[in-house]
Amino acid sequence: MNILVFGPNGSGKGTQGAIVQKKYNLPHIESGAIFRLNIGGGTELGKQAKEYIDRGDLVPDGITIPMILDRLKADDCKKGWILDGFPRNKVQAETLAKALNDAGIKLDYVVEIVLPRDVAKLRITGRRLCVNDNNHPNHVAFEAIKPVEKDGKIVCRVCGGDLKTRADDQDDTAIDKRHDIYYDDKTGTMAAVNYFKGLGTAKVISVDGRSAIPEVSEAIMSKLA
Ligand code: AMP
Repeated sequence: MNILVFGPNGSGKGTQGAIVQKKYNLPHIESGAIFRLNIGGGTELGKQAKEYIDRGDLVPDGITIPMILDRLKADDCKKGWILDGFPRNKVQAETLAKALNDAGIKLDYVVEIVLPRDVAKLRITGRRLCVNDNNHPNHVAFEAIKPVEKDGKIVCRVCGGDLKTRADDQDDTAIDKRHDIYYDDKTGTMAAVNYFKGLGTAKVISVDGRSAIPEVSEAIMSKLA
């Protein structure tokens, strides 16, 4: 089963991708997480990507597209994949569709988490990342996923690990830029969503991202075969 997950920053798309990954045991490929891993590891790719990410810009297609297409060729992707954060613009969408077509790979589902822009922005600034698992949901403003206190320290509510914030989550200009790109239906991410919807080859699952995490997952799971 091959799945694309779309949703603006703050929609919980990474969290939902991780839930689907656990249920179907598919690799969860997150372009943003791959970049962050490379930045953390001080790799050449990380060095190239960092300045764009910090500003909230897209990393150039010349870097991002080969990185993702190569990842999809790895052995663990033979049984299927969940691709999250890619494609992010129309060019990436067209390139991915062609690459899949050339490789004879069928896209089964397009999952779209729909969230108004003002709600998405509110969610971003309060989220915290667990150093042990990027997909342990922690948010200072939501009771259900609030980090916990341990020995006078605020830690991950799932595993007790340390928490950190993403630099691009605390920078207002970077947040707005990321949302400008997401909600742009001419060349940005909404153009990519509409492109895949228009192809009509995959089943589209659109869910209301304003609901709580379990309800959003239930809405997605109930429609996945
Ligand atoms: P995310 O974790 O999905 O919010 O991604 C964090 C950042 O990584 C984005 O703001 C971009 O700078 C970069 N990035 C992630 N995915 C892509 C992509 N498909 N194309 C270009 N840049 C990307």
